[in-house]
Amino acid sequence: MSWVDLRSDTVTRPTKAMRAAMLDAEVGDDVYGEDPTVNTLQQRLASDLGFEAGLFVPSGTQSNLLALMSHCERGDEYIVGNDAHTYKFEGGGAAVLGSIQPQPIVQDANGTLPLDKVAAAIKPIDPHFARTRLLALENTWHGRVLPADYLRAAHDFARERGLALHLDGARLYNAAVASGVQAREIARHFDSVSVCLSKGLGAPVGSVLVGSATLIDKARRWRKVTGGGWRQAGMLAAACTYALDHHVTRLADDHARAARLADGLKNIPNVNVLGLHTNMVFVDVPADRLRELDNHLRAASVRISIGYLPTLRLVTHLDIDDDGVTRIIEAFKTFFAA
Ligand SMILES: *Cc1c(COP(=O)(O)O)cnc(C)c1O
Repeated sequence: MSWVDLRSDTVTRPTKAMRAAMLDAEVGDDVYGEDPTVNTLQQRLASDLGFEAGLFVPSGTQSNLLALMSHCERGDEYIVGNDAHTYKFEGGGAAVLGSIQPQPIVQDANGTLPLDKVAAAIKPIDPHFARTRLLALENTWHGRVLPADYLRAAHDFARERGLALHLDGARLYNAAVASGVQAREIARHFDSVSVCLSKGLGAPVGSVLVGSATLIDKARRWRKVTGGGWRQAGMLAAACTYALDHHVTRLADDHARAARLADGLKNIPNVNVLGLHTNMVFVDVPADRLRELDNHLRAASVRISIGYLPTLRLVTHLDIDDDGVTRIIEAFKTFFAA
């Protein structure tokens, strides 16, 4: 039996049709700007999202890092959620490699950074302080879609205070599909947006950073400095373009399956469904039974991550179909019935 893997939407494998698109890709040397398939992907995503330029990079981590390093200089500061990926899960890259000071803000439960707290964290212009340059948001955050009126308010606030605004939009398209809007409606509030093609969109590798031509020129330089200049990357870019063509609207299926999963788990004794957000279901189970639960699920070919005890994050994606959801619910039921 094949695995039903709920650990993350990063585990998707390229489909047959995506592999065919990769095989057929025209390629060239991207350091010379000569890979036509990379160029097409970059231009397409930039124009889809309403920006001048795009830059294809191996990972969302690098894309965010390049954005931070392109907006900020040594001794500058960026304001970020204390539980944001950029701050917490990227090895502190902005500080390590960019000499950029992070100023974390405790987020509200919906993922927003209260703007009065952001305002209070902005440093005066004075040699004592780092220079506050940038506000970084994340959408979706733990599957949650940031409210549209918050995005507008954050945009107006950033303009008023002279800050640039970056979006870690690793799952931008989940947010757009869940809200029933075009992704550019979300992206237009920002000066730069990083999008992951390798999460729910199902490409094997790749993120794209979009922004102004000037910003993307700086980002290209930093990509080189951080070792990320690549050559015939068109085969990977072809997978990403395929994902944008074929895997965006189907994200609604992942959201529907997450809803079915939450519904199927909610009446099982000892299983407490804490939240359902886009393609993620958050569940509490008794901490002393977690290891045993993990073993039971593995025996049923269901994989979960038990890294964040005792709350489980269950993520639906391209490689989990309706039968997979049924298998997960059954496996939880048989465990907690015992
Ligand atoms: C996965 C993720 C990233 C980083 O992407 P990688 O390709 O894994 O480096 C950044 N931000 C968020 C919100 C993510 O979920």
